[in-house]
Amino acid sequence: MAFVRSYLLVRFKNSVLTQRFSSSMSDKRGLVLGVYSTDDGKDDVKFTKFAQKYNESTAGKLLEQIKICGPIKCGQARIYWDLGTYPAVAVAGLGDASKWDELDEINGAKENVRIAASSGVKALTACKIGRIEVEDLEDAKAAAEGALLANYKFQEFKAKDKQTTLPAVSLAENADGSEQWEQGWILGQAQNWARILMETPANLMTPSIFSENVKSKLACANVDVQVHDEAWAKEKKMNSFLSVTNGTKEAAKFLEITYKGEGSDDKCIALVGKGVTFDSGGISLKPSASMDQMRADMGGAANVAATIFALAQLKAPVFVKGFIPLCENMPSGTATKPGDVVFAMNGKSICVDNTDAEGRLILADALCYASTFNPKFILDIATLTGAIKVALGDCVAGVFSTNNALWNQIHAAGSESGDRVWRMPLFKHYSEQMCDHSGYDLNNLGKGKGGGSCTAAAFLREFVPKDIPWMHVDMAGVMGDCSDQGYTGAKGMTGRPMRTLVEFITKANP
Ligand SMILES: [Zn+2]
Repeated sequence: MAFVRSYLLVRFKNSVLTQRFSSSMSDKRGLVLGVYSTDDGKDDVKFTKFAQKYNESTAGKLLEQIKICGPIKCGQARIYWDLGTYPAVAVAGLGDASKWDELDEINGAKENVRIAASSGVKALTACKIGRIEVEDLEDAKAAAEGALLANYKFQEFKAKDKQTTLPAVSLAENADGSEQWEQGWILGQAQNWARILMETPANLMTPSIFSENVKSKLACANVDVQVHDEAWAKEKKMNSFLSVTNGTKEAAKFLEITYKGEGSDDKCIALVGKGVTFDSGGISLKPSASMDQMRADMGGAANVAATIFALAQLKAPVFVKGFIPLCENMPSGTATKPGDVVFAMNGKSICVDNTDAEGRLILADALCYASTFNPKFILDIATLTGAIKVALGDCVAGVFSTNNALWNQIHAAGSESGDRVWRMPLFKHYSEQMCDHSGYDLNNLGKGKGGGSCTAAAFLREFVPKDIPWMHVDMAGVMGDCSDQGYTGAKGMTGRPMRTLVEFITKANP
């Protein structure tokens, strides 16, 4: 494939900042090659097919050089200078996929390619190589994902002359799998966009700005985006959603996104994403330490927007509708008070015991509205509970599902994408904790102790008609600063598990 440049477009209220990551850091070309670990105890080097040919083009000098320091482990990359047609060659370790434990439930071959592509790109970037070409590593899609996710840095608001110029990354000439590379490229770019949406400070990513940003980005991919206002939500009786906006001056929005690929079903798949652009907790105010992280409480919304963006670019033959309630949760004299009772779109009354459990209040109405389209199934995704991080840590999203087939499919999708999911329970016990009250239908907090993610899911279930298969993804654990996935980086917002959603939706069948 030809030299590919990446453009990041971030649109703000009054300006359009276009940043081009080009080859200006140095016009030197670098190449990433792959080498497998061998288990024969002889420290033999096993090249990929592409790397084997490259070694032959150097009359075997590359192999000689590698052997001086011995095998290259998975996750490591070594740079060799002036060998062959590229001034710099990073040889990245692909490890041995069979070493992945079955219980890790991951496609190890793909994951090792992502890790290797990422380590090669990072090693060459550290040497200020401006144009990096990556061989296919025998799985060009995974190679592109690893390379793209590693080639990311959030620096939108730093002085231009202090910003780090990122290299241009492309598939190496003569490598196999240009179509697969393109798919991985689309996924990596979409996830990086979700990361930017999540990372951007809340004053520069209000519901209005988020809406404009999504509208302009998705328009480029021929996706229809309708931005509904508060009057529309009021008319639809979304009073649970609107109750969360009582304490802020920022206008709430509700996005309705439609993508219908060629050859798709008549019934849509409904995706619902939580879009709280800043969550202070409201009157039930959060502690101030790390409260800034709550700028990413719209991670579910970012996942839905980026998933549909990727599906549209991939021209996936699916019919998807996205529903995104967007608002701020702030305390003020007009804010919702603990103990207030509000009515959702389906008429159910909810006691707002804790104004910091606001995600479920906005999702309740969005789920009701999504149901009116009689979808094939509904998937909602949200940074819903801190409890999911307590349960599962920062490496996997929790999934609750009323449909076993859908669970099995998203579980398999997570193994393929490297961004895994884990099933959580929807026991009647949790529903009783939310619904067993004398004065109103539901409380937004569970009665018992613990199980906060499960009671939150039980709450949401009350807003989906029983005949519509439903799945809830609690992504709060993988929102940011994850320690498990080197190629996505250990710091900052992640945009996870977007690639799993794309993989799942292209195959989903309840
Ligand atoms: Zn909250």
